[in-house]
Amino acid sequence: MSSSPEDDRRRSDLVTALGAVRHRIADVCGSVGRDPHQVTLIVVTKTYPARDVVTLAQLGVRDVGESRDQEAVEKLAQVDARLRGLSEQLAPLRWHFVGRVQSRKCRSIAQYASAVHSLDRAEIADRLAAAITESRRPPLEVFLQISLDGDPGRGGVVASDALALGDAVAAHSALRLRGVMAVAPIGADPDRAFADLHEVSDRLRAAHPAAEAISAGMSGDLDAALRHGATHVRVGSALLGRRAPVIG
Ligand SMILES: *Cc1c(COP(=O)(O)O)cnc(C)c1O
Repeated sequence: MSSSPEDDRRRSDLVTALGAVRHRIADVCGSVGRDPHQVTLIVVTKTYPARDVVTLAQLGVRDVGESRDQEAVEKLAQVDARLRGLSEQLAPLRWHFVGRVQSRKCRSIAQYASAVHSLDRAEIADRLAAAITESRRPPLEVFLQISLDGDPGRGGVVASDALALGDAVAAHSALRLRGVMAVAPIGADPDRAFADLHEVSDRLRAAHPAAEAISAGMSGDLDAALRHGATHVRVGSALLGRRAPVIG
């Protein structure tokens, strides 16, 4: 594929940013005695074009996150087409759905997602499981989104209902309960928020030992999340630059 000067500049910006974020993860892990290889970096590519996803894949990124189904479906097709046009063979990408899951989108999400990080009600688990079974896809990894400010209006299940939701997910053989996920409440101390999340994780794990993953930490607060045991960080703007405002 031919590359323009802008492509080259973008690639070198992404190389620099990716190196910086990987360093940051390694530094924090080192400071608390954790192995950085146990942390999965998910690059959240919402609002960014397919060509960035392909560049990231060439730089060794394997996990990408999207928060809107329609955008994900369109981008995925473009990424696949671009990857097919490359002479090099790259390992397949794993797509993580990190946004609000609407009931009518479950069938679609089940066609491409390896993991859903934002499950917050049993009805969605039922629909995702039915779609996975119907399309004979491998089990979908599921994280329970926990509402840390107790206001489920912003997404997430309140901590006191997390165990029941975990049981509902675990009852489906088409789903694989991986753990918990949260976004730190706006204005809250992230250390406090992620310490609370860790407690919810401990309680879930007591009932479901395999559900040991913690998806927490974004560009602004991934350090705090890693100090409190995050196994999956979801990073967008620190890698890709500031996003244009998302409408809808
Ligand atoms: C957008 C988004 C991210 C990434 O946020 P940045 O601040 O750009 O790193 C992470 N998690 C979720 C759920 C998101 O919607």
